[in-house]
Amino acid sequence: MTDQHSHNSGSNSSDAIATSAYSGSAEDIVKRHIYEPSLPSYTEAEFNSAAERITALLEKENAAIVAHYYTDPAIQKLAEMTGGIVSDSLEMARFGAAHKAQTLIVAGVKFMGETAKILSPEKRVFMPTLEATCSLDLGCPIEEFSAFCDQHPDRTVVVYANTSAAVKARADWVVTSSIAVDVVDYLDGLGEKIIWAPDKHLGAYVQKQTGADMLLWDSTCIVHDEFKAKGILDLKAVYPNAAVLAHPESPASVLALADRVGSTTQIIQAASELPHEQFIVATDQGIFYKLTQLVPNKQFLIAPTGGAGATCKSCANCPWMAMNDLDNLANSLELKTNEVFVEEALAARALLPLQRMLDFVKAGA
Ligand code: SF4
Repeated sequence: MTDQHSHNSGSNSSDAIATSAYSGSAEDIVKRHIYEPSLPSYTEAEFNSAAERITALLEKENAAIVAHYYTDPAIQKLAEMTGGIVSDSLEMARFGAAHKAQTLIVAGVKFMGETAKILSPEKRVFMPTLEATCSLDLGCPIEEFSAFCDQHPDRTVVVYANTSAAVKARADWVVTSSIAVDVVDYLDGLGEKIIWAPDKHLGAYVQKQTGADMLLWDSTCIVHDEFKAKGILDLKAVYPNAAVLAHPESPASVLALADRVGSTTQIIQAASELPHEQFIVATDQGIFYKLTQLVPNKQFLIAPTGGAGATCKSCANCPWMAMNDLDNLANSLELKTNEVFVEEALAARALLPLQRMLDFVKAGA
């Protein structure tokens, strides 16, 4: 695991902040990181008009919105208003498969639409855009991954949900971040050695938690990889009592500073359970909509990334999740564009490790 930032690189003095990559006073820095609940992409009138149009389309098409926590707050709000769901990728998969709607509109990224279609081949699945992908999916091309697996035939192949249908079809197990540790721990208990793909930070975290024998694919999420220990230590110098909540796709040096490491759902739970009044949250900013809704009396700070002038590509905001908006969601439903298809034989193979995951969750519930 490579992480260029030392765990000891911070300072307890707010003076250190002025000389860091973050310019301005300590107060300026904190203000820049405090999350302000709002629907910044739309005026109230725009939202109401889009909501009216989409609600009518959902009824007409017998459809439900399945949205990820990282999508625009307006999409999350609309999903809730119309009986859809806002959740992590595991719950999205379960909800979509169990829902009686004949049509699903999946607001998220490509692998989520594919997963919905694989689990519910009889339903029509649409997405606001088919262009929204994921750096982890892109970082794990099937040809290279399959060759890697072929080199290690004695290993059980466990892949993260953030992968293509083809990669899932090559796997023995699919996992989400909320159950990765439990599944690998279970497999380790059976004496199995593991190939893990594609997120190397999550893989290293799971390996550390379970002690399992794991070979890690080398890919990262461009959003979480940008969180830096130094930035978090700088912010903690201003808010020393804030707890740090981090998604395990973040680098090991960030996880080492965290009071709780977990999936998006587990981060929301932690914010509610822990006694702290303030939290520094290392995951996509989209989650702050739910955090402030479910835990309204606490304050949330966006974890710093590389800082001004650094190499931040995403700054706690997934560029692919951000491609979903109310217009393309409505257009997709109205014009029947952006339908998700997965080739039948491939879907049948990918279903096996997905179903294994859902059965595992069910057995443990
Ligand atoms: S936040 Fe990261 S893991 Fe999630 S969709 Fe975006 S690039 Fe992929």
